[in-house]
Amino acid sequence: MSTLQLIWDTKSPSSTQQLWSWDNGNIHYTAQYVRLIRKGVYMFRIGNRYTEPSDVIALKLVRGKEALEEMEREASFYQNQLKDLQGTVVPKCYGFYTAKVGGTPIGCLLLEHCSGPPVDIVRRQEVRYKSMQAAYALHRAGVLHGDLVDGRHFVSMGHDIRIIDFAVAVPHKCVSGLSKRAAGHGRQHTCGCPELATLESTYARL
Ligand SMILES: [Zn+2]
Repeated sequence: MSTLQLIWDTKSPSSTQQLWSWDNGNIHYTAQYVRLIRKGVYMFRIGNRYTEPSDVIALKLVRGKEALEEMEREASFYQNQLKDLQGTVVPKCYGFYTAKVGGTPIGCLLLEHCSGPPVDIVRRQEVRYKSMQAAYALHRAGVLHGDLVDGRHFVSMGHDIRIIDFAVAVPHKCVSGLSKRAAGHGRQHTCGCPELATLESTYARL
């Protein structure tokens, strides 16, 4: 069993929450709140019981049965289909933890915090190419993301591109995502997989 101690306020011991995971070895994380990243996603520093929290992560937090079930599905993608893509095409996942607070179930997904230089005119072509490559890799791994078109789920990590948020993803047997040829080069061509085809034509129009 693995534990996660969430410290929201170092001056207020009562703000600390304890969560558990049954499939993350026997790591014992201590996480200290840094700031809000966006609604439901927080920046935390984590360490184990022997070290001061130092690594910065993005922590997704949900409350309630329905939201927890959705997070459980997302965590399962990270632990299964996306296992080999962690740290390259998708963020590294540090674990999925749950607890009950006042009778309400809560869940936390611990992910690599992604940040990179802004996408300026010089990088736009490169980012488009890397995003397309990442989408192909995702499909090869058997995952249809379901919400890639507007681009907000492609994030920079240094000069790489990661795909995030698998809340509406579904297992997928891709008909044409197996091609390893360069994608996203701006030329339009036919692709049998709807998600990849839509993405290719979106990038071709830009
Ligand atoms: Zn596909």
